[in-house]
Amino acid sequence: MRVVARALLFLVGTGVAPLRLMPSDLQPLMELPIVPLRTMVLFPHAALPMTLSRAAASQAVAAAGEDGLLAVVTQAHPDAEQPGGGDLYAIGTAAVVRQMAAPGSDTVMVVLEGLERIAIIDIVQTRPFLRARVRRLASERPLIDSIYNASRWNLLEAFQEMVQLSSVLPDELASVARSIADDSALTDMIGSALVETQPALRQDILATLNVRRRIDKLNEVIARELENLKIREKLRVEVQSKISESQKEIVLREQLKAIRKELGDERGEEQQLTELRSKIEGGGLPDEARKEGVRELDRLQDMSPGAPEYSMVRNYVEWLAELPWSRTTAKPIDLTFARQVLDEDHFDLEKVKERILEFLAVQRLKRTQRAPLICLVGPPGVGKTSIGRSIARATGREFVRISLGGTNDEAEIRGHRRTYLGSLPGQIIRGLRRANSCDPVFMLDELDKLGRDFRGDPSAALLEVLDPEQNTAFRDHYLDVPFDLSRVMFVATANILDTIPEPLRDRMEIIDLPGYLDEDKLQIALRYLVPKQLTENGLVRDVDITFTDEALLEVIHGYTHEAGVRKLEQLIASLCRKRARQIADGTPGPLVVTRGIVHGFLGPAKFRIESQVEERTKRPGVAVALAWTAHGGELLYVECTKLGHGRGQLTLTGQMGDVMQESARTALSWVRAHADRYGIAEDALDKHDLHIHVPAGAVPKDAGLAAHRPADPPVRRDDRRDHPVGCRVADRRGEGESPRGASQRDLPRDSAGRQRTEPRRRSSRPSAW
Ligand code: ADP
Repeated sequence: MRVVARALLFLVGTGVAPLRLMPSDLQPLMELPIVPLRTMVLFPHAALPMTLSRAAASQAVAAAGEDGLLAVVTQAHPDAEQPGGGDLYAIGTAAVVRQMAAPGSDTVMVVLEGLERIAIIDIVQTRPFLRARVRRLASERPLIDSIYNASRWNLLEAFQEMVQLSSVLPDELASVARSIADDSALTDMIGSALVETQPALRQDILATLNVRRRIDKLNEVIARELENLKIREKLRVEVQSKISESQKEIVLREQLKAIRKELGDERGEEQQLTELRSKIEGGGLPDEARKEGVRELDRLQDMSPGAPEYSMVRNYVEWLAELPWSRTTAKPIDLTFARQVLDEDHFDLEKVKERILEFLAVQRLKRTQRAPLICLVGPPGVGKTSIGRSIARATGREFVRISLGGTNDEAEIRGHRRTYLGSLPGQIIRGLRRANSCDPVFMLDELDKLGRDFRGDPSAALLEVLDPEQNTAFRDHYLDVPFDLSRVMFVATANILDTIPEPLRDRMEIIDLPGYLDEDKLQIALRYLVPKQLTENGLVRDVDITFTDEALLEVIHGYTHEAGVRKLEQLIASLCRKRARQIADGTPGPLVVTRGIVHGFLGPAKFRIESQVEERTKRPGVAVALAWTAHGGELLYVECTKLGHGRGQLTLTGQMGDVMQESARTALSWVRAHADRYGIAEDALDKHDLHIHVPAGAVPKDAGLAAHRPADPPVRRDDRRDHPVGCRVADRRGEGESPRGASQRDLPRDSAGRQRTEPRRRSSRPSAW
């Protein structure tokens, strides 16, 4: 028997009276033909349209007699093709045949209407169809109390919710349910509406005669049904939204195509992929990179452009395709031209230029592709970056620069693995893509400021970059294929050498740029900085403005306090801007920049080192010392005083490191040893305490210390001329070191009265004592 329609027709309370029989017409005991149902359950008052496909069922209907009465019983074993008494549940429903049609010879379509529950007492016939003696069963009317009413109310609410969520139950069913006054009929109607509930549960509800218990059971079943329906609804909404998203994307892509077409830009995704493929296959990629690129491109072509992974893979392939794997720009080395470029761009720096030319000469002789690793060390503004640019120009290479200051993550150098969202190659590979050649001059700025923390040690990654043994196959985490860095000319810059990790330092050729004398600065300003700033500010030399030496020296002395010329360049730029403003305001004609104009434009001078030194050292017991800093050196005023009565003790104050404290003690010992030479009484040093103070000032220091003879008799300027000024400079960790980068004008003068241009080398003994 096959159910042809699941839609149920409820006659309960609708006023449609059964045509021939009413439940009240039934006898208490009857013998009725049985129509077995495999999985359906017919409840009283419900109509069930169905097709009878089994002969036994058709014959049972045919045997129903004039009044059309029969018993409909659900099979306990749905698989039984010809069910016997043992295959049926004991309780079923007496029903009448409301309509019957036989469109084919084998099929009979009927509409059965349930009348009342019956129980099978015994089977009286099995062939050709089942016939049984049945007894009417009446529902047990409930005792109505508040709990009962609450359960009934719950049932109606839950049923309403179920109807709303269900896609097979008509919405009116909920209001039909509310209109049924008889609770037994109500429960039967709801039971028959549970079309998706398991037959066994529905049969259980049919077999429950007590209406109160029937309501409880229905509440349980509907609660479970509701859970199922809610889950299904949630899934449906999710699927729906996914479908609508992808439909939206399809529509948008179509629109995009149409827009592109309208704009004449028909390079669709397909075409772009084809272009990428030709770049990968013909772009001079090494084998491993090409294979990886082709593999990823194949993957890309099988993917939907809407897939989240798509853009990641595409990005990667683009990186592979765009990298300058084999594009070189370096020209054969021409030493004359190189010299010419270096001279054009820089004043003096003879030693630096010589060293660079030596490297280039060696490279030319050896005919090697491998470029030297150079590290330019010096204070800011001494021309390290511009030397790098000149090397690039002199050798025909591109120039790229990355700053390593504060880099403390290894991934900054070597990139993130592709599994991370938004991952990118590291700075080295990114720089090469910017340079668009595999042999640029690659400047690693601020190598001395490289950090290190839990995210890994960037210096280890840099080592791989700089080490000629390893950098022929540098593996960036993102690319994951080797890139040959051996042709890249790495030029690092640093203010100090000490903080550069030893292994890195070992692999580089160190070139010092110690800083400039005032005279050098003047020449640099006249020949390079002024012309550059005039051009940048749209001024014409001698037509709009003329800089005098005197004015430039005033800027150097009074407004800058640096070893390089960066601040000087900024101030020249500032003077040029002010002049440009004047011209714009209508003051034409050449302006000769004098000291006075400098003061007018830049305000009062900020530094007056000479007069300050003079002023400070007028007082007895104050001596000048040099402090070494990465920015070029500082002057310190070391103050010493003799205390009335004491026991020859030495007190040291100020922020001194170990080396400076040692220096102070050594100085005292030296004075003791040479006391007679200076006319100091033998016991003078034993009877007095001495206090030496090094003011902290604004400069971090652990620096040089100069000492004069003790403060009584006071150190006078005249005395100082006769006696040597001891000077020893220490670095911050207390190691004696040369004052590299100390502003040259602060360095001692030699016998000819010239300032030393080379910093003093440290000797094992403080030679100046
Ligand atoms: P650094 O990299 O050492 O901090 P830069 O290379 O940025 O310094 O130099 C600052 C400015 O000073 C640049 O404009 C540079 O051209 C100029 N400069 C420095 N030294 C010289 C020099 N010897 N000759 C000409 N210009 C110089």
